[in-house]
Amino acid sequence: MKKLTLFLLLISFGAYAQQKKISPAHKKVIIVLSYDDALNSQLNIAIPQLDSANFKGTFFVCGNMNQDNIEKWRAVSKKGNELANHTLYHPCLSTDGKGEPANNSANYTVYTIMREVSSMNNFLFALDQRKDRSFAFPCSETTVGGISYLDSLRKSGLIKYARIGGDQNSIITDYASIDPLQVPSWGVVGKVTADDLVDFVKKVQKNGGIGIFMFHGIGGDYLTTPAANHKKLLNYLVQHKEEIWVTTFGEAMDYAMKNK
Ligand SMILES: [Zn+2]
Repeated sequence: MKKLTLFLLLISFGAYAQQKKISPAHKKVIIVLSYDDALNSQLNIAIPQLDSANFKGTFFVCGNMNQDNIEKWRAVSKKGNELANHTLYHPCLSTDGKGEPANNSANYTVYTIMREVSSMNNFLFALDQRKDRSFAFPCSETTVGGISYLDSLRKSGLIKYARIGGDQNSIITDYASIDPLQVPSWGVVGKVTADDLVDFVKKVQKNGGIGIFMFHGIGGDYLTTPAANHKKLLNYLVQHKEEIWVTTFGEAMDYAMKNK
């Protein structure tokens, strides 16, 4: 009798455990590694690190890149990484590029930004022949000249998913409420340690859902994440690869939209 009770207990515990396992699809742990502005340190440091970990990232590139790098970015795409639209000239209100008034988004109109997004799509199509395109708002600003271009972007059909900024708590757990054109990420800036990077992943592991890193320089350039910290993050992801799906922004969003 005692054995039977134990048996039943085990069965019911098994059922409970299984029930707990059958969780919403968004409990899958997804990490996206994204890199902005087509920087040399990404080509020289981030990509070799990604290659050796066998991970694919998303690179939000601008059109005003060094011509010598065009074939390098094509090769990055051929490896399975995602090349995404970050406009031609990175118009921004807060930083104003390198002091160039032509790149100040205050001087833009919805027409000029949309024209730029469209031309950058063509540039990227010439590089990788892909039609579905992701986008990241320069400086995470969704306005130009004080006017939002979100609706125009949405109606244009040029962009499938768009990324904005956010902080260390910007984890996506509710897929039903995501606006595919305003997907938050953690903009990694300032003094961020390797532990901070890993803690962000741990937070996603705890809550489920999608965590998106927004990096700039890796071991160089600006808004720099030290190469060793980036490597430690990748090592952690490799160690937990059974549990964590590291994928591109476009693929993560395809998954989220299908599993709302
Ligand atoms: Zn940028």
